[in-house]
Amino acid sequence: MKEPSPTIPPDDQVVYRGRLAPSPTGLLHIGHARTFWIAAQRAIENHGTLILRNEDLDPQRSRAGFARAMIDDLHWLGIHWTEGPDCGGAFGPYSQSERRAHYLEAWRRLREGGFLYPCHCSRKDLAQLASAPNDTDDEPVYPGTCRERKDAAGFTQPAGVNWRFRVPDGEPIEFADLNLGQQRYVGGSDFGDFLIWRRDDVPAYQLAVVVDDAAMRISEVVRGADLLKSTARQLLLMRALGVAAPDYFHCDLVRDAAGVRLAKRHDTLSIRHLRESGVTPQKVLEMVRGS
Ligand code: GLU
Repeated sequence: MKEPSPTIPPDDQVVYRGRLAPSPTGLLHIGHARTFWIAAQRAIENHGTLILRNEDLDPQRSRAGFARAMIDDLHWLGIHWTEGPDCGGAFGPYSQSERRAHYLEAWRRLREGGFLYPCHCSRKDLAQLASAPNDTDDEPVYPGTCRERKDAAGFTQPAGVNWRFRVPDGEPIEFADLNLGQQRYVGGSDFGDFLIWRRDDVPAYQLAVVVDDAAMRISEVVRGADLLKSTARQLLLMRALGVAAPDYFHCDLVRDAAGVRLAKRHDTLSIRHLRESGVTPQKVLEMVRGS
């Protein structure tokens, strides 16, 4: 793999804008290193801008210490960005926790456009839904219990109830992934009405990511293949909000020796652990290239 080197943008307009969007809910691992290295390479090759966005939406799971660790580990790996937080102190306007007003505005627009409904199902009701076989990464398809409710207009704020996006049943959602080729999902069977805003007043990932990718004028999203189906959901949301979709490049996932996808719980494969056990950044990137 060639090392990233400073490049001079061509005279014509620089239009590539990519992003690194880690969630500070654990330590970064080899899988992140791989995705973020590819994202950085693509930004360099396209003479583009790379943004670091701290996806700290969930106050229960996000920790400032993990956000500092991810910035530090990315620097250590030699992965550089040109917009976003660069130090261990304040994370600034590129943190989702500071962008609530933007998500709220999108919630209002979607609700007024009839795209959302309040869902009163309890956690217990939802736990009883069976997950699709072999699809443990994904939420079960919501059966539509609250879909016909007519009380959306009565809410001036989202808090207190879950809000779901009405997915058009049977609609095919297709996109050409720049790495994995043509993708096709069907609304209502591959995924159901998904969460937009949580009862505990936290905007859902799908909403925040769409609002931010549009506001930050992201032209290409590079992320793990575990989010392919989320891309289909996000394309529906972007259409409802009237914003243009970026291009997508989903990276193959790194798996451990048993074929299990790496998650943050594999602490021994965290960048931090490798670093502390004397592995060099070059070695980590070699491991990443070999996978
Ligand atoms: N923050 C998400 C994660 O760490 C990724 C979001 C995205 O790339 O769209 O899994």
